[in-house]
Amino acid sequence: MLYFFPIPYPDELFYSMVCRYHVRSGNRSFRQTQLDLFETAGTKQYYLGLPNNLATLINQLPFGSSLTLNQLLEKHTLFPYYQTFLTNREVKRLRELMEGKESKSIAQVAKIPKLKLYYPDYLRFCPQCLAEDLQQYGETYWHLEHQFPGIKVCLNHRVGLQNSRVLVEEMGKGFMAADEENCVGDGVSYDGEVLQGLWVFGKVIEGKMRERRGFKGLEGLRDEYKQGLMKLGLLEEERLVAAMLERYGEGVLRLIHPEMMENLGEYVSGCLLGCDLLQEVDRVVHWFVEGIILT
Ligand SMILES: [Zn+2]
Repeated sequence: MLYFFPIPYPDELFYSMVCRYHVRSGNRSFRQTQLDLFETAGTKQYYLGLPNNLATLINQLPFGSSLTLNQLLEKHTLFPYYQTFLTNREVKRLRELMEGKESKSIAQVAKIPKLKLYYPDYLRFCPQCLAEDLQQYGETYWHLEHQFPGIKVCLNHRVGLQNSRVLVEEMGKGFMAADEENCVGDGVSYDGEVLQGLWVFGKVIEGKMRERRGFKGLEGLRDEYKQGLMKLGLLEEERLVAAMLERYGEGVLRLIHPEMMENLGEYVSGCLLGCDLLQEVDRVVHWFVEGIILT
């Protein structure tokens, strides 16, 4: 049984709660913190925002703690993000993996593409959130929403998210809190239309997280795309590309998803019309196109 565990802040990334536990525990090693919380010291897949072994932690929370497994999953991990485009059965499997000790296949079950977009180099932060959190809570923390693939600006402050000094791949090895030493801005800023475009698309992603519809599977989705694009005369790759460029602007597309730009038409068509054949779901591309079909 733990003596304490930090009460999560609004929109706090689970990893951040573990960092705050580590700091307060006075543990000298990260390994000891792992043992305290998870009873094992193996590396965890924090980097995807899809940690596992959560049931072990919940079961040893101090008496009186009201934190539940559901709360953790829904409010403090990327589970709501990655459960999109998964059938109920697949969602159940992902949830089981996050609750349990096995972690190896989490990325596979969540169907995460092996792209930089989904495996960023650094944890991100918003300078204004940082200042406000410090003022309001006396400490800072990693925000969940700032880590969503495809979100490039803080949706509260409309400023560009900055890369911190904390490498995402280091997250499994140590607990680096979002403090002023780690959160030094990289000077990124956007203006005018680009900022607005990034913000609008960020709001689309945020909205998707709130939708709770039973997903029927990728085969049905492919047919929906076919019909939707046909209706708009966008079934041809070139036309679809033109519509995407017009709707979002090349700058916004390139900032959010640079890897698709080299071969935009072919890539997007493959994602949509071949979606039932792929092992991975490039969610951001789907949301780009939904934005065109559904508006
Ligand atoms: Zn902010």
